[in-house]
This record gives sequence, C-alpha cells and structure tokens, in this order.
Amino acid sequence: MRAGFERIGRTVSLERAKRSCLDKRAYKSRNEARDFAARNRKKYGETADQPYRCTICGKFHLATRKAKRKTRAKAGRGKGGKR
Ligand SMILES: [Zn+2]
Repeated sequence: MRAGFERIGRTVSLERAKRSCLDKRAYKSRNEARDFAARNRKKYGETADQPYRCTICGKFHLATRKAKRKTRAKAGRGKGGKR
C-alpha cells in the first residue's frame, strides 16, 4: 500500500488530490515528464510546464504555469473557501 494522501504535516483532501494528482497524467520519471513538456512546447509554444514529484503518488506530473497568475484569491470571497 502506498503512502496515501498524507504528506508531511498536512493531509490532502481527496478533492485536492484529484486535482493535483489523480486527474493529471502521471509520468514514471522526471525525464518522461520533461520529454512530454518539450513536445508540448513545440506544439503550443510558450508553455512552461514544470515536472514535479508528486507527494501523493510518488510519480511525476507537470505543473502547468499560466503566465500572470501569481495572486490567487487570498481574501476568501464569499464563504466556503476555495473549491
Ligand atoms: Zn500524483
């Protein structure tokens, strides 16, 4: 059994896990991820996909960075927080 959804000092909710892991494509290695990103770049131009090691499944995913999106709703709007 693998490490579940817990990471150091923090428990990842299932929903979050889905978004950052389960819904994403997993790569066996960083190289593989990078390779894929490189191909993407050729196709789509300026994507800055960063391979990262997933703390949930232990594989690699690509973090797609969209430009200009540094500030994320820090002041919660409404209730219920983020979804
Ligand atoms: Zn994962």
